[in-house]
Amino acid sequence: MELRDLPSVDELARGADDPLAVDAARTVLERAREEIRAGADPGDLAARVRDELTAARAPSLRRVLNATGVIVHTNLGRAPLASEALAQVVEAARGYSNLELDLREGSRGSRQDHVAAILRRLTGAEAALVVNNNAAAMLLALAALAEGREVIVSRGELIEIGDGFRIPDVLARSGARLVEVGTTNRTRARDYEKAVRAETALLLRVHQSNFRVVGFTELPRLEELAAVAKRAGVPLLDDLGSGVLASNSLLLGDAEPTARASLAAGADLVCFSGDKLLGGPQAGIVVGRGELIERLRRHPLQRAVRIDKLSLAALEGTLRVYLEAPERIPVLRMLNENVAVVRARAERLASLVAGTVEETVGRVGGGALPLAELPSFACAIEESLAAPLRAGDPPVIGIVRDGKLLLDCRTLAEAEVDEVAAVVMRCR
Ligand SMILES: *Cc1c(COP(=O)(O)O)cnc(C)c1O
Repeated sequence: MELRDLPSVDELARGADDPLAVDAARTVLERAREEIRAGADPGDLAARVRDELTAARAPSLRRVLNATGVIVHTNLGRAPLASEALAQVVEAARGYSNLELDLREGSRGSRQDHVAAILRRLTGAEAALVVNNNAAAMLLALAALAEGREVIVSRGELIEIGDGFRIPDVLARSGARLVEVGTTNRTRARDYEKAVRAETALLLRVHQSNFRVVGFTELPRLEELAAVAKRAGVPLLDDLGSGVLASNSLLLGDAEPTARASLAAGADLVCFSGDKLLGGPQAGIVVGRGELIERLRRHPLQRAVRIDKLSLAALEGTLRVYLEAPERIPVLRMLNENVAVVRARAERLASLVAGTVEETVGRVGGGALPLAELPSFACAIEESLAAPLRAGDPPVIGIVRDGKLLLDCRTLAEAEVDEVAAVVMRCR
């Protein structure tokens, strides 16, 4: 086919009786022109318009099957929700809700009331506030407590997380001034102490989520920092990153600090994400001293970063699971699952799709426990299926390694194995 053989947009669109057909025809013709210039044959244009129309009507944000072995995968939406949390979202969203209504008094309530008590119970904190995400929690806390004044941070904690979220930038946006102390690898309590002056508003500790400094390193214990903050008469804010609420038996040793432990060690405020190791929806949670939480709540930015009702319902649902049976949180289940069970799942998948079983290493992801290796097993199939599986229904995301596509079974639920197998068979 030559460029001059291509129909016009109108001619091509006329074949399909559809209001979206003109846009679809334009897209198809644009691609066809590129293909012809590259020496390729664009094929059946009418069929391509039909495919384009089907794709345009399908939702863009969809459920996918995570066969990467990375549990808190930011590109794949971080934590999947527990079924109880999901049920609460559906229930709260399908009609009206008491989002800001006190049902007993019949008066105006606060959306914060739905989770404050349970967060206090789970962390031992005096008060709690939830916002859109942890980045917003940090921004709000710094703006409310340190605007126009100084915040002391270790040079070893001036980190960047994920897609360009940098602690020094957040500090600048909040209106606080950054005072760096210590060095990249070693900071001592004395360094903070020496930097304290009348302009100091806050001591900030940031969990080194997504990297580790090894070798000749030193960071003060939280208790020591709390003592410095107390002597200086300023609060200590601990950004935990991945908020751990579960007891350590459900995690890999005590590698990640829990919010409760951080408060007990003397942090005045602790902030963390809802959708990392906590295993809930995107949210930023701040717990700590009542008087400080109140200052955050009254700050004008609070309204701009508030949590929406769907996330709030998911968060309350998730926190309730923690009270009853934390092992039902999918993130914690995947983290703790015995490798023999993962292997059995990989064997079952391999037998369904005629693949082979390979040993792999799973990851926690989400910037938590960057060095932790979770023993895992995958079903290996031909590499050429990687793209077709991504285009599957539902899409299946695996990992390409050594000329093979690995479908890691640590991040697949038992029932998802059959779905993955069906998608593989359709793609072959
Ligand atoms: C992930 C992370 C954040 C940002 O949390 P979001 O909920 O993704 O906004 C902030 N601080 C630390 C230390 C983190 O690990």
